[in-house]
Amino acid sequence: MHALSVASEAFPLVKTGGLADVVGALSGALRSHGVTVTTLMPAYPAVLASLQGGETLHRYSNLLGLDAQLLASNVGGSSYLLLDAPALFSRGGGLYQGPDGKDWPDNWRRFAALGRVAADLASGVIAGHNYEILHAHDWQGAMAPAYLKYAPGPGPRAASVMTIHNIAYQGHFDSSIFGRLGLPEHAFSISGVEYYGGVGFLKAGLASADKITTVSPTYAREIHEPAFGMGLDGLIRARTHDVLGILNGIDTQVWNPSTDPQLKATYDSATLHRRSQNRDAIEEIFALEREQGPLFTIVSRLTWQKGMDVMVTQLDRLVEQGGRLALLGTGEKEIELEFQRAALRHPGRIGVQIAYDEGLSHLLQGGADAILLPSRYEPCGLTQLHGLAYGCIPVANRTGGLADTIIDATAENLASGLATGILFDAVTPQNIVHAIRRTVERFSRSDLWLQLQRQGMAADFSWTKSALRYAQLYRQLSQTPPRQP
Ligand code: ADP
Repeated sequence: MHALSVASEAFPLVKTGGLADVVGALSGALRSHGVTVTTLMPAYPAVLASLQGGETLHRYSNLLGLDAQLLASNVGGSSYLLLDAPALFSRGGGLYQGPDGKDWPDNWRRFAALGRVAADLASGVIAGHNYEILHAHDWQGAMAPAYLKYAPGPGPRAASVMTIHNIAYQGHFDSSIFGRLGLPEHAFSISGVEYYGGVGFLKAGLASADKITTVSPTYAREIHEPAFGMGLDGLIRARTHDVLGILNGIDTQVWNPSTDPQLKATYDSATLHRRSQNRDAIEEIFALEREQGPLFTIVSRLTWQKGMDVMVTQLDRLVEQGGRLALLGTGEKEIELEFQRAALRHPGRIGVQIAYDEGLSHLLQGGADAILLPSRYEPCGLTQLHGLAYGCIPVANRTGGLADTIIDATAENLASGLATGILFDAVTPQNIVHAIRRTVERFSRSDLWLQLQRQGMAADFSWTKSALRYAQLYRQLSQTPPRQP
């Protein structure tokens, strides 16, 4: 079976967050379930630079009014199609924002073009390309199912899956762009791309795709409610029978403490004492005092979603309780500044690196004792899975994928050998402080702590089970005729 995956980022080619990890790893994991995945994404300059040659598969002279070509390439055994449209993607700055931090004003055109090409590939426009499944990720991929529904090519049409990695990012644009999308008039409707008077890309994908998935069962339930659905909960409720939560996995080739080249010392659950060498390295990099008390880490976007605005107000309490913190992250400027101020107030106790550093994120998981995750909402979350695999105990708000993957260290769960982390309910200063206190307490009992670490490390968060569920969904869909407009 052949599936076309369409997304705006994929690890290892380009990554700004968990989306890239999932798109990259899932395509590899599906192979052992008999699904061959081709990933379509933009040919950003960094992607073109890392390619060892790409073959031109198709040329467009009028892709939403622009010249473009489609390049085919193979990277690390995975097959990619790269949309090389220089007017859209050949620029400095970020994937979605310019150097000023503002969204690129032509984001609608950049990702509509990506969706248009995906739909072409999935409906026989490009010779030699036939897919049973079109799998679109997040708002940047979401126009693909809409083009497939409203303006398909002449060939057989793939069935479509729309995956929500974060419903907060919706790609909502002014209605004036509609006329330039190349869609028939009737697509501007409540069952099409119209969204609160404008054009909603994610909305269009959710309304058009045959099935909707999101990245954990709890988040799948949560987005039915106004508090989590961010305006799309009504649509989710209307399509509830087509909504499915499939937990993300982690790439165990990349995230494996017994082979990880980013660690000073590799280890497994029988040699956890070796983590102390990684902890020494962290203490040096973050200029922290050397001592045996609990070392907390944060590896995160520093944003409201991640609860970092509240977390940063409780760092004095963390230090009072004997904790230290090594933070790696970037995000909202005011939150970044507050963490830096806390580091100045507590030299040797709090170390802050405002940066994005893949290698350092591995070292932190491999040497810190606990990772703090006070997310207000978390569709799945990957860093708690990295923490579990590395014996770095997650301390998290009970929401979304955090609730689905961490088992709280209550007396009962400890006694029955199930506990893997510390959970709290609702992101408030009091709850965060209480969770830190519980963590410090558990940490002081080294037998309990070792038990928690080993139980987390024994849990299976590889892609094996989840890739099977996607493969089953693909098979089920490819036998069902596509939904009628
Ligand atoms: P989200 O996609 O919402 O940011 P996830 O937990 O799903 O959150 O995925 C975040 C991914 O990005 C993880 O692989 C994490 O290790 C990585 N990450 C986040 N911030 C940084 C950083 N500053 N440096 C390195 N890796 C980071």
